[in-house]
Amino acid sequence: MTKPVIIAIDGPAASGKGTLSERLAAHFDYAHLETGRLYRAVAAKLLAAGLTAPSEAQAAEVAQHLGDADLNSPHLYEEATGLMASKVSALGPVRAALLAFQHDFAGHPPGGKAGAVIDGRDIGTVVCPNADVKFFITAAPEIRAKRRVGQLQSRGAGAIYAAVLRDILERDALDTQRTNSPLRPSPDAHLLDTSDMTAEQVFAAALSWINKSR
Ligand code: C5P
Repeated sequence: MTKPVIIAIDGPAASGKGTLSERLAAHFDYAHLETGRLYRAVAAKLLAAGLTAPSEAQAAEVAQHLGDADLNSPHLYEEATGLMASKVSALGPVRAALLAFQHDFAGHPPGGKAGAVIDGRDIGTVVCPNADVKFFITAAPEIRAKRRVGQLQSRGAGAIYAAVLRDILERDALDTQRTNSPLRPSPDAHLLDTSDMTAEQVFAAALSWINKSR
């Protein structure tokens, strides 16, 4: 069997990496793994158990026993879950527990697909350092907060811009300043600042880069 093609997409919260990943996966008929979902599932399970300040051992225990139901929790996209995800994802044993799942997905994309688009914070740097193509997606925090408010409203959840912006800045700080797998561009990643781009333009720019680099 030929080695699956891996497209790694990293970037901060609400940068547009999820939308881009979905589009690229659909375009190439590749599998898509949103790794933030794994960390969110750990966070949601801890919060559901009333563990608002879990120990490293408690968080690692949950990460080692994640099931399908956890990955489909209705609370995954609440801001409190995102913030808790940023906290537990700084813990080495939690990251280690989730790494095997991500490697397995990259090595054997589900459905026998020829490739996978994997998005997160450390895909190009730690999870798949040998990815065929790497992107690092950014956008100004104010623009990301505006987009996140729109997303939350379209899901029927109310959201206050100032609170969403504060959460985004807090998560940026946690994700970039942690010791384990901090959010940073891989030196060989293609940088895309999506602040003034529509989702359509981001997709077109990414596609053009992929076609140029293969
Ligand atoms: O991408 P998303 O915002 O859903 O991720 C939630 C949190 O999970 C992030 O703030 C980040 O702390 C963590 N995460 C991570 N590594 C990844 C993906 C997400 O640390 N590969």
